[in-house]
Amino acid sequence: MFCRIVNGEIPSRRVFEDDTIVAFADVAPQAPTHVLVVPRRHVASLDDLHDPALAGRLLTVAAGLASTLGLGGGYRVVVNTGPDGGQTVSHLHLHILGGRQMNWPPG
Ligand code: AMP
Repeated sequence: MFCRIVNGEIPSRRVFEDDTIVAFADVAPQAPTHVLVVPRRHVASLDDLHDPALAGRLLTVAAGLASTLGLGGGYRVVVNTGPDGGQTVSHLHLHILGGRQMNWPPG
């Protein structure tokens, strides 16, 4: 489904894009700022990410976006993976969550 967002077939509120990555607002935000960082290429989950360069790029973009989005006080990056990890969309995505105090442990 995120392939269709990346391709523009499903509308989204994009906050970043380059040749390998698209980032857009989560449709059901769990924090005042909730953005998803997604590789353009289909990678089903973190378990299928066998590309250190892309992994690094995803994290670097996430950190840059956190700064751009004003999360200087801190933020959380989450990668839900597999059924027990709570992954509901089978296209790798990093959640950037911020704008409120995060709690630990997560649910
Ligand atoms: P996960 O549960 O980690 O797989 O995260 C999937 C996320 O995708 C959830 O936070 C959803 O709210 C979000 N989501 C699902 N459909 C859309 C959409 N069309 N546009 C933006 N976010 C979406």
